[in-house]
Amino acid sequence: MTEAASPISAAPDYASMFAGLDAMFETGRTTSLSWRAEQLSALERMMVECEQELMDALKSDLGKHPQEAWATEISYVAAEAAYSRKNLKRWARRRKVPTPMVGQPGKSWLQPEPLGVVLIMGAWNYPLQLVLAGLAAAISAGNCAVLKPSELAPATSDIIARLVPEYLDSKCIKVVEGAVPETTALLELAWDHILYTGGGNVGRIVMAAAAKHLTPVTLELGGKSPCVVMPDADLPTTARRIAWGKFTNAGQTCIAPDYLLVDAETEKKLVPLLQQAVTEMFGENPEASESYGRIVNDRHFDRLTELIGSGDVAIGGQSNAESRYIAPTVLTGVSADSLVMQEEIFGPILPILRAGDLEASIRFIRASDKPLAAYIFTRDSTAEARFLEKVSSGSACINDTMMFMTVDELPFGGVGPSGMGNYSGEYGFRTFSHMKAVMKRGWWPDFAVRYAPFTARKFKLLRKLR
Ligand code: NAD
Repeated sequence: MTEAASPISAAPDYASMFAGLDAMFETGRTTSLSWRAEQLSALERMMVECEQELMDALKSDLGKHPQEAWATEISYVAAEAAYSRKNLKRWARRRKVPTPMVGQPGKSWLQPEPLGVVLIMGAWNYPLQLVLAGLAAAISAGNCAVLKPSELAPATSDIIARLVPEYLDSKCIKVVEGAVPETTALLELAWDHILYTGGGNVGRIVMAAAAKHLTPVTLELGGKSPCVVMPDADLPTTARRIAWGKFTNAGQTCIAPDYLLVDAETEKKLVPLLQQAVTEMFGENPEASESYGRIVNDRHFDRLTELIGSGDVAIGGQSNAESRYIAPTVLTGVSADSLVMQEEIFGPILPILRAGDLEASIRFIRASDKPLAAYIFTRDSTAEARFLEKVSSGSACINDTMMFMTVDELPFGGVGPSGMGNYSGEYGFRTFSHMKAVMKRGWWPDFAVRYAPFTARKFKLLRKLR
């Protein structure tokens, strides 16, 4: 544990907080690999030692079952910290690249350097993971950081604000709690990088604010992630994997399958299998299940219950405004112009759209924004290849949902309206580093070929050297 933080004042002076962090960065404290490794170990320790408190906060904000909180947030952050610590030296060292003849004698390399003081703003749906996995990346690259957890998950925001100064170096890592006014004030500062996770509208606000200082941004946004189920898929497994991906965290997951594209015959077989999967996971009455989450607030509850009217309720459909419960719901007979298809659902409602063949599904997906994730269930490797070739998405998964998040070596990020840039593992290290291009020349020989006066002989030689 390092020094304790000063409490956040009622009228915080973000400019002086920023200046303090900038001054700390200038001392080189965060650049040392030992500081980075120590902070990453402390972050991992925080996840282990405070597991129960973190589970309680996530239960309070989103009704997350402790096992789900552990699997999707607490252990995820711990693993990200541990993986970054183990690989830190390798990522941070120079990467040699070949030097051409014309540059001989000489050596060339990429030298990662930290960016400075960075801002990490998280969304409410994975309120712990989204700021702390980003922090692991910022630390591994040797930066000072300010975390701004989402105000819509207040218990988790509070515990982050309390634990981070207790476990981590509060001279270099700060937490600012707050909503729009606080975030707006933070965005006026000249950050060296901003990692923002949330909706595209605020993403535009973040990017516009960053543009004033030419601050680079990584935007982790959302979108409608499509899921194609081909007739040849193993349907019982497909149903389980889709139900898991859709109803984890009550559907409030950026990479949840948003809607299904299925032909009529497959739909007939899939719906009872989805019902079976839901019953197996959450029982006959999911409202009574400890394993099933709740909607984050009344605004989202009202928005989601309105979407249920977009089709015929094949599964679920019940809701309870008091506890903000919405049953795992599957809609059939949904048309492409219905309300549920106008925006990212971000809740436990799964519309099934009747698709023609694979080409029709691909055309349908391509007519909308590039999604954060795209899913296809099939045994046909030609269909799989065609889907991967034609559907552009941040990530893709064949025959499962969301599981690519478990692969350390894969980056996580969107494309087009679903985001820009990425992080996770080494990609996070790179996001928060500048890969400085370096060339070192030997003194001798110093070939005259590039120097004036230019001659035909020099020109001929130069052509050979390139
Ligand atoms: P949110 O309301 O928690 O907002 C995100 C952050 O923006 C918060 O820190 C909040 O304080 C700040 N904010 C909100 N309004 C602001 C404003 N006017 N000015 C400045 N800052 C402001 O989260 P949300 O936007 O509801 O997030 C949901 C979206 O996030 C979904 O689209 C989802 O797909 C996406 N998401 C993406 C990822 C990913 O990794 N790509 C992960 C989770 C969620």
